[in-house]
Amino acid sequence: MQNIKHKILVLSGKGGVGKSTIAANLALWLTTKGKNVGLLDIDIHGPSIPKLLNLEDKSPTGTPEQITPIPYNDTLKVMSIGFLLPDENNPVIWRGPMKHNLIKQFVSNVTWGNLDYLVVDCPPGTGDEPLSIAQLIPSVDGAIIVTTPQQLAILDVKKCITFCRRLNLHVLGIIENMAGFVCPNCGKKTDIFSGNGGQQLATNLNIPFLGQIPLDPYLVLACDTGKPIIKSDTKTPAMRAMQNAFEPLLREHEKTSANKEVQEMRIAIPITDGKLSAHFGHCQQFAVIDADPDTKTITNTEMFTPPAHEPGALPRWLGGLCVNTIIAGGMGQRAQQLFAQNNIDIVVGAPDETPEQLVENYLSGQLQTGQNICDH
Ligand code: ADP
Repeated sequence: MQNIKHKILVLSGKGGVGKSTIAANLALWLTTKGKNVGLLDIDIHGPSIPKLLNLEDKSPTGTPEQITPIPYNDTLKVMSIGFLLPDENNPVIWRGPMKHNLIKQFVSNVTWGNLDYLVVDCPPGTGDEPLSIAQLIPSVDGAIIVTTPQQLAILDVKKCITFCRRLNLHVLGIIENMAGFVCPNCGKKTDIFSGNGGQQLATNLNIPFLGQIPLDPYLVLACDTGKPIIKSDTKTPAMRAMQNAFEPLLREHEKTSANKEVQEMRIAIPITDGKLSAHFGHCQQFAVIDADPDTKTITNTEMFTPPAHEPGALPRWLGGLCVNTIIAGGMGQRAQQLFAQNNIDIVVGAPDETPEQLVENYLSGQLQTGQNICDH
């Protein structure tokens, strides 16, 4: 996951609103912009990506620990739970922990390689599965919420937004799909699902509104025959609307990427009771601080709760958070080796001060370090 620059979740409050269609088209559209893209379909109960991309007869190769995604073309790789189901006509009955383990396996064991974007088609709603995904994928850029315009669907969108806020998941924007039907003969637009609830909600909650995509018979045909609309030469209103909806996402990410290049320091510090914890593997939280090495200033501070203690878990998790420096009190030799292998700088023997104070001292070259006071 740490080799993936941007991760976007595609969510919806309900099924059938076009979430998978938008996820597949977003992934393909990004490839037309020269990006290397992965598309991960974790809609356990209705995986539609294999059908949408005409990949139904494919199955992934590799081992359960290293699953090779299916190449759709040179720049798009696809992995879907649909590839692993024996019979598309039989519903899958999964118990909660099985779902969580399956999602975990997908997230950790697919060998994506270096990607610019991973687009994740999530199961609809705000239940256990989107929750697992949001918790298991590190450093997600944010979520796109797809809805239809009518009030009934909007109630579920509100739940989706609350879900994102509780998980500190940035909402990249709302897309209103199936918003009106443009007659292919006369070009007149008729609203089928009346209202513009998604747009109103976005305005009320100060969330970007990415646009409306009309109903389009050509889109249904394209989905049913596995030919995503973005690939087609026909410029339908839906296709133009999708492109317009996706453009701002790319612009925002290019901006954050440029910022990241300037702010190249991301420092993690183990914290207990607000100050540095001497016990690296047993701290309460990690402060992750972005700092500008040129101006020697702190630009952002976030607190994260680490995963349960087990060998190798912290180096993996901190790598996923794109950390490149660690300030610690004490740290075991094995962890130090793992960080060094991942080009993460480590400072040990730091005193029990607040994270901001430690970073300021570090940036100004005044951090006083002592013994590696705890080596486990
Ligand atoms: P979800 O992932 O939300 O369950 P899908 O992407 O599978 O929804 O879409 C459900 C159905 O709606 C598919 O048959 C798809 O072709 C169709 N569909 C999606 N968006 C549109 C649209 N804008 N116009 C016409 N049909 C659409």
